[in-house]
Amino acid sequence: MKFCDDETMIDDGISYERAMACIQSEDEKEIQEMMAIAGRLTRRHHGNRADLCGIVNAKSGLCPEDCAFCAQSVKFPTQVRRYPLLDPEMIVAKAREAKKRGACEFCIVTSGRSLTDEEFKQLLEIVAAVRKRAVIQVDVSIGFLDYPRARQLKEAGVTRVNHNVQTSSGFYSRIVRTHTYGERIKTLTAIREDERLVSR
Ligand code: SF4
Repeated sequence: MKFCDDETMIDDGISYERAMACIQSEDEKEIQEMMAIAGRLTRRHHGNRADLCGIVNAKSGLCPEDCAFCAQSVKFPTQVRRYPLLDPEMIVAKAREAKKRGACEFCIVTSGRSLTDEEFKQLLEIVAAVRKRAVIQVDVSIGFLDYPRARQLKEAGVTRVNHNVQTSSGFYSRIVRTHTYGERIKTLTAIREDERLVSR
């Protein structure tokens, strides 16, 4: 399969079938070509610029899950700092600092499988405070979610939810044993039920 020199693909897009064939390639040269085309596509349609996103590690360590790549898990002897949900004032200050440095989005990230009801309530208050006082777009990455929580996030003004699937369904059980790929997809489905709450 040839990827480069294909201006039609860059201008007019790519069919579903061809995209599926591309992403299944294991050929090193083809993967490099795909990356080059992805770069050209980005510059063609979005120019040579990047949007900056600030981030705060708002709750750190002590996660009971065992994702093999993650320093936040209690299962591994990492040196990561451990602390509960940060004080709202501190998070607002970090959001203001991010905006001052050029960020247009600010993502609040918490360790753990999911927030407790009390923590989730606090998070909604923090989102409101950041939007009002730092005047910046707010995103969150807070672990598993159901639809009622996704809905509350949207109502609180959250723009995006980050929830990574990490790897393929076939490989998932080799890096995580405490939850399944299906559970991650369930959270993405809950987020996407509300079309304006975009996940990434
Ligand atoms: S669930 Fe999240 S915080 Fe916990 S170990 Fe996995 S990736 Fe890390």
